[in-house]
Amino acid sequence: DHESKKQLIKDNIQSYPDFPKPGIIFRDIFSILHKPDLFSVLRELLTATAKSFKVKPDVIVGLDSRGFLFGTIVALDLHLPFVPIRKKGKLPGPVITTTYTLEYGTSTFEISTDSIEEGKNVLIIDDLLGTGGTLEAACHLITVLGGNTTGCLLVMELTELNGRSKLTCPVKSLVQY
Ligand code: AMP
Repeated sequence: DHESKKQLIKDNIQSYPDFPKPGIIFRDIFSILHKPDLFSVLRELLTATAKSFKVKPDVIVGLDSRGFLFGTIVALDLHLPFVPIRKKGKLPGPVITTTYTLEYGTSTFEISTDSIEEGKNVLIIDDLLGTGGTLEAACHLITVLGGNTTGCLLVMELTELNGRSKLTCPVKSLVQY
């Protein structure tokens, strides 16, 4: 069942204490991608969870860069368009931009202005929810384009950081720490 599959994924995510800096436990999702059998289980869980949101998405948005790994497979499985949100300076053509705060310093996200039509329902996919600053910035860009963020889907969630409190849409994660 899904609960034992989620536990299998959690058991195989390798953790690196004090990376990239002291006090952070880095959760390495690539430890799943190294093993095709586990990646298949993860794909099945992600697609099933993406289908379980009350409001059905018209578009899948993946966040630079690990959100692309999971957003694209879900987009293919659901036969939906995939749209990237990228770090500053990577997208060609007209973009809109937002700057958000990280633990140390700031980062800038961009989305192509013509990538989401007004009124479309958007499911955002990323690898991990921490403070929620990253997803909040992504939601802001989608709102500016006239889209509705109807859900956020993460592989992992650091529950004690309470990133959900920054978000107004339904949030689902497969594995919690
Ligand atoms: P946040 O904006 O705090 O929600 O951070 C989310 C982003 O930071 C995600 O895109 C993750 O890839 C990355 N991230 C934050 N904390 C960790 C961690 N402990 N392990 C792996 N990635 C992390």
